[in-house]
Amino acid sequence: MNKEASLADQSQAYIERYGVTPAEASHDMLLRMIEDMFADGLVTEVEPFPETDREFSKLLDVLRPLDANALREKLVISGWLLEPYGPDQMRCQECMYFLVHKRWCDLPELNLPAKADWWCRLWRI
Ligand code: SF4
Repeated sequence: MNKEASLADQSQAYIERYGVTPAEASHDMLLRMIEDMFADGLVTEVEPFPETDREFSKLLDVLRPLDANALREKLVISGWLLEPYGPDQMRCQECMYFLVHKRWCDLPELNLPAKADWWCRLWRI
């Protein structure tokens, strides 16, 4: 299956389940889509954590071209989790990209709703 067909199939699956695609979904609906994916067993790439600017940029380069409807890929590549991570219990709340009042991840390559206790490997302070 080629990439475009796969994205079209995914978009259709969102419409069948939620009546809307991620690109058109409201904040609450996107939260629901994300939480449902994890409830359905989604596993994301939490390692390796990008230790250098170069590694960080490489991850952004992978994320940047993704379509807004490629929600699953965004979550997988960013190593998204619905809980704090690591011995330091890193979480969105302390990340420089987290907009507390909007409950939103403002990193342009992600641009998704997030909750204070969630985390991804693009976490930065
Ligand atoms: S970059 Fe990751 S850790 Fe930071 S706010 Fe966005 S989702 Fe949360």
